[in-house]
Amino acid sequence: MIVMKFGGTSTQDSAAISNVVSIIRARLHKRPFIVISAIAKATNILENAGKLASEGQGDEALRLLRGLIDRHLSIIEGCTNEERRRTLLRDLIESSFCELEALVGGVSILRELTPRTLDAFYCYGEILSSRIVAAALQDGGVDAQWIDTNQFMVTDDNFTRALPLAESVEKRLTAIAEPLLQRGVVPVTQGFIGVTTSGRRTTMGRESSDYSAAVIGAALNADEIQIWTDVDGVLTADPRVVSSPMKVKQLSFEEAYELSFFGAKVLHPNTMLPAIEKNIPIHVYNSRFPGGSGTSVAAKSAPPTPIVKSIAYKRNVVLLNVTPKARFGQYVFWEHVYSILTRHGAVSSLTCTSEYSIAIALDAKNNIEAIVHELSSLGYVSVQEDRAILCLVGSMLKDSRTLLTRFFNVVAGENVDMLSFGASASSISIIIDDERVLDAVKTLHEELFASLPDNELFELLEYAPAF
Ligand code: ADP
Ligand code: ASP
Ligand code: MG
Repeated sequence: MIVMKFGGTSTQDSAAISNVVSIIRARLHKRPFIVISAIAKATNILENAGKLASEGQGDEALRLLRGLIDRHLSIIEGCTNEERRRTLLRDLIESSFCELEALVGGVSILRELTPRTLDAFYCYGEILSSRIVAAALQDGGVDAQWIDTNQFMVTDDNFTRALPLAESVEKRLTAIAEPLLQRGVVPVTQGFIGVTTSGRRTTMGRESSDYSAAVIGAALNADEIQIWTDVDGVLTADPRVVSSPMKVKQLSFEEAYELSFFGAKVLHPNTMLPAIEKNIPIHVYNSRFPGGSGTSVAAKSAPPTPIVKSIAYKRNVVLLNVTPKARFGQYVFWEHVYSILTRHGAVSSLTCTSEYSIAIALDAKNNIEAIVHELSSLGYVSVQEDRAILCLVGSMLKDSRTLLTRFFNVVAGENVDMLSFGASASSISIIIDDERVLDAVKTLHEELFASLPDNELFELLEYAPAF
């Protein structure tokens, strides 16, 4: 069997959903299990509605939600024909609005939006879109069955960033899915959302529907996890920044992980983890161009030679530098620094240590003020804001004799604050000024990829992305 995950742009309107139906129909012989994201922008709208309600702007929250509900209603007009099915869907969408209205009322009174309540808002995006896709498949003659993730996607209770409990997921999901798949039924479920053991809806972090697909694939021992999105595959750089990126045909799990960790939005970094554990290949395809060969992500990737495959970047980074006040044992100092980060749930994107100082790159969304306050009890802390990480990803990068020279020729004029080389064979990263990073990505792309022929590893895009 295979898992097929469709992202927000693949379900954004009725034409896109009809296209998804034909993509699935053409792969019924592979016994697909379908994972659906919320329609484009829905999750942001739900989040904004929650925030507005907590600021006492309930009317504005409802206006946004009404717009979202109307978009769903207009989508079903275009992708379902059977009147009974359409009426059921309309009723379901309208009753979701009533539930959201009640949530807005509650949050407006309390003036508080906890992570748990935010998850209660978020889940409507995926529930509605997956319902619509299931109905559109049935309308197209496919024996599809909608499954609520609250039956199997058991997670911990870290609301808005929950992690699935793999054993429970596997046990529950195999019991539900295997009989269906054996009968040729196509299960359709939601990405992104899960449920605690006590039945509360959770979500697994923004953009995590790719991860949901991988968790489901691992639980069902899938032959392949397919991520269907709006680009031809993983590209040599972000197509919103570089005007003519190429498609990368193959990546290793490690390369894909590093690339997504350092900002390439096309895959959620966690997607690779269940795939690595069960050694299940991931394939990224373009739903607007289903005939394309996409990008394959697997345990090993060719060729066994040093080569940069893609450039990633992460903006809004804050760089902290801590030098201890007293020279107590180095390991004690590091332990204290890391325990402070752990207490704040802050993940360092890059870390660099010298004998006594430590530099840590953190996403600016963390509670930097509180972290700096605590770190100040250990040592002198300097804070540099408005930084960005620029990262080259590829295979055997440490073995290249020329790469560092070429890299530094391009970034020679930049204000480089940190270099990370050697910890990983698949990436080299630097930290520079945030406002310079997009230009640096463009120039580096020109330097590293402009003269590459259409060869075994890269492929010129078969259509120009509309960015
Ligand atoms: P989906 O809604 O299908 O999950 P996303 O928007 O999350 O899609 O991810 C796809 C987007 O990732 C692309 O439209 C592209 O703009 C962006 N992207 C950033 N870096 C890369 C890259 N290296 N390769 C491909 N896409 C990238
Ligand atoms: N809909 C969720 C989000 O926008 C999850 C996803 O699309 O992957 O974050
Ligand atoms: Mg995505």
